[in-house]
Order: sequence, then C-alpha cells, then structure tokens
Amino acid sequence: MTRNWLLYGAPGSGKGTQAEALVQRFSIPHIATGDILRAEVRSGSELGQRAQAIMATGALLPDDVMIDIVRARLAQPDCSAGFILDGFPRTLPQALALDGVLGDLGHPLDRIVYLRVSEEELLARTGGRGRDDDKPEAVRHRIQVYLEETLPVLDHYRPTGLVREIDGEGEVSAVSARVLEALGEATA
Ligand code: AMP
Repeated sequence: MTRNWLLYGAPGSGKGTQAEALVQRFSIPHIATGDILRAEVRSGSELGQRAQAIMATGALLPDDVMIDIVRARLAQPDCSAGFILDGFPRTLPQALALDGVLGDLGHPLDRIVYLRVSEEELLARTGGRGRDDDKPEAVRHRIQVYLEETLPVLDHYRPTGLVREIDGEGEVSAVSARVLEALGEATA
C-alpha cells in the first residue's frame, strides 16, 4: 500500500501543519515546494535569488522551474512508500506535468485532501505568520493567484474521484482527525 497524498488548499489553510502531523505518523516525506524555495533563498543560490524576488510579491515561479524541482524530488528513493505533496501543483500545466511524472514513476496519487477555509479566516491566519511574503499586499496577491490559477486545478482532479473536501477551520486536532478520515487512515 502506498500513501501518495496531495494536500490542497489556499495559502494559510493549514496544509503545512497538517502535513507535519502526517510525517510524524507515517514517516513519509513532506514535499512542500514553498519550503524547498525558502531553503534555496537561504542558501543564496541563483534559483534562490530569483525565487526571493518573485515570492516577495506573492506571484508564482514559472511552471517549468517548479516542475523540474518536483520531478527530481519525487524520483528520490524515500518517496517510494509515499509522500505528502503540499503547494504543488498550483496551475493546470503543473497538474498535467505531475500526472506525467507520477505515471512515469509508477506512483499515482492515492488521495487528494482539500482543506476548505473561508477567506476571512485565511487573511487572519496569514497575517500572523511573520513571513516575508505575509505583507498585506503580497497576501492579497497570493490569494488572488490562488483563486484564479490554483483553485481550478481541483476541477482537474475531481473526475478522478480522489478528492475529499474537508472543513479546515477549528482546532488543529479536529482538522487532523478529519484529514485522517479523508485519507482513509482513521482508526476506530
Ligand atoms: P507556499 O509556502 O506554498 O505558500 O509558497 C510560497 C511561495 O513560493 C508562493 O507564493 C510562490 O511564490 C512560490 N511557490 C511555491 N510553490 C509554487 C508552485 N508550485 N508554483 C509556483 N510558485 C510556487
């Protein structure tokens, strides 16, 4: 049995927090493209310098750059029993590329969990994280990009029957229970 999972939701929907809980429980890697990019920024690499300028505005990096990063990461041996993908795919071209990459690797997605959080709650949450791209202007842009480019990706996956939509508001532990249920991992 594989645990090839995709967590889906707006910036601030709690994907990262939920993913960390799943990492602890199932010992599978958390592949968060935002985290990968922030590590590049810290390292001062050429990609990091480019990413920093784009991320600060709340815009997306080019699809080809992101697809290369994710393709390389998913090919690592630690992904063979499963993975938690978070923050990718964010556009339809990324989703189509992911389908191809996972098909080539023989690791098709097992479940997609969509954490639904109201816009008011998203604004309240991202305001408090203190990240560089959490300035009000960047937050507004990120939410706009999410609505225009990322939300339609869910429609791409709906016909697969893999999508489970859950309420992402409330206590972290309550959301965790819903996530486990949605993944088919709830115990009793
Ligand atoms: P996140 O931590 O997932 O909210 O990502 C932070 C920022 O990294 C985003 O606002 C984008 O600028 C960039 N980023 C992360 N993932 C992607 C992706 N899949 N495609 C394009 N840009 C991304």
